Amino acid sequence: MSALAGRTAIVTGASRGIGRGIAERLATDGALVAVHYGSNEKAALETVEIIEGRGGRAFAFRAELGAPDAVDTFYAALDAGLAERGAAREFDILVNNAAASGSGRIHQLTTEVFDRLFAINVKAPLFLVQRGLDRLRDGGRIVNISSAATKHAFPDSVTYAMTKGAVDTMTLALAKELGPRGITVNAVAPGYIATDMNARRRATPEASAALAAMSVFNRIGTPAADVGRGRFPVSDEARWITGQYVDATGGTAL
Ligand code: NDP
Repeated sequence: MSALAGRTAIVTGASRGIGRGIAERLATDGALVAVHYGSNEKAALETVEIIEGRGGRAFAFRAELGAPDAVDTFYAALDAGLAERGAAREFDILVNNAAASGSGRIHQLTTEVFDRLFAINVKAPLFLVQRGLDRLRDGGRIVNISSAATKHAFPDSVTYAMTKGAVDTMTLALAKELGPRGITVNAVAPGYIATDMNARRRATPEASAALAAMSVFNRIGTPAADVGRGRFPVSDEARWITGQYVDATGGTAL
């Protein structure tokens, strides 16, 4: 039997990039995957199509994180999707992956950008967890997508790095809080993965080579192959791993 058969997983920001890769992986392992997106419905439906094309189960739902009513919208849309498939409202896995980047260096930073990044990258996942606690099953899994930017100085995008630091801290606190229910909470840091988020940083062959050189493998990772596999802590076997920062950065800046 597939490792995640009978489980329901939610992946935020699964329309594109790393979230799509994680959603594909969880579906391959047998989970029903709720593919969350913010605005790009076409891309979200493509994720669903890819999963269904391989015999998996998924549906897309929309909620713009950072908007004042984001959490209400999120769970209302999720409920509608689950009900349409005759699935229970309870779920087993929440992957907080959606995030915005591009805050720039300290000199370029504005309070508007600061507030927006914290609203999307920190406030949204925290309150998604809070509101989901009565429906996340005991023994469940929460995975928060972090970044190497919390372990290595990243002045190019200071606020983005700060939001990921907050995600690591949230991970630690929630792991302790939810442990008695058998729920694990971990952060996974992907390193440079070729997605829309860093497309501009890969704009020239030279820039791309510089990013690749950050990894000891001298390449930029790919969403489906390099994240969502290996030590991604959602299986039953991972039940003893919690409160951890899982470095999946391809040996960035070792
Ligand atoms: P992308 O920019 O490629 O995709 C972002 C995803 O998040 C999309 O699905 C997007 O939805 C969704 N999203 C963004 N903002 C919002 C919002 N306000 N409301 C709802 N959904 C939103 O990002 P990546 O795949 O590169 O990044 C995924 C995660 O990995 C992030 O947490 C990022 O910080 C982290 N990360 C990425 C690295 C990389 O090299 N790519 C390195 C380290 C960490 P829509 O399609 O609808 O816009």
